[in-house]
Amino acid sequence: MSTTFVPFSSLPANEQVEWAEYLGRKISETLLRAFWGRVDVRSGCWGWSGYKHRGYGRLNIGDTTIGAHRLSWVIHRGRIPVGIHVLHACDNRECCNPAHLFLGTNDDNVKDKIAKGRGWSKISADDVLEIRRLYGRYGRGGISGKDLAARYGISRAAISLIVNEHNWKGIEGLAEG
Ligand SMILES: [Zn+2]
Repeated sequence: MSTTFVPFSSLPANEQVEWAEYLGRKISETLLRAFWGRVDVRSGCWGWSGYKHRGYGRLNIGDTTIGAHRLSWVIHRGRIPVGIHVLHACDNRECCNPAHLFLGTNDDNVKDKIAKGRGWSKISADDVLEIRRLYGRYGRGGISGKDLAARYGISRAAISLIVNEHNWKGIEGLAEG
């Protein structure tokens, strides 16, 4: 797990992501330093030692605040489309580990809560990789979404969120043992 501080100014221009929802403010080095100074990357879930609101880490940006987990997404993954939520697979609101985050709509957020109520919180990053592998081979020795849901004891909505390439993007390089 890398904790290397990457100055924003050193990123290629096409990676200098703008925050669509914050009127295109660029991520400043100050903000990045504030983020890396408050996040604890020693454990699976990256805890937050800074200010929290309703369990979510928050950071000051200009005259407002932003979610620490949302900033983590932008740093590690890129842009968050307008109206899209950054959701926690781990159910730990303060967690900023990008391997535990995925994008979803408000509808997905609701589905996610329902899915977690059905045990999705039991699903690890390794399970996600296995579910995607099996689902990807459906018809060639793989397993259908319905049967995967039964095997893992979670909802079919949760399976579809997991196998959607949009969600869990990049987890292959970040899964923890
Ligand atoms: Zn986590």
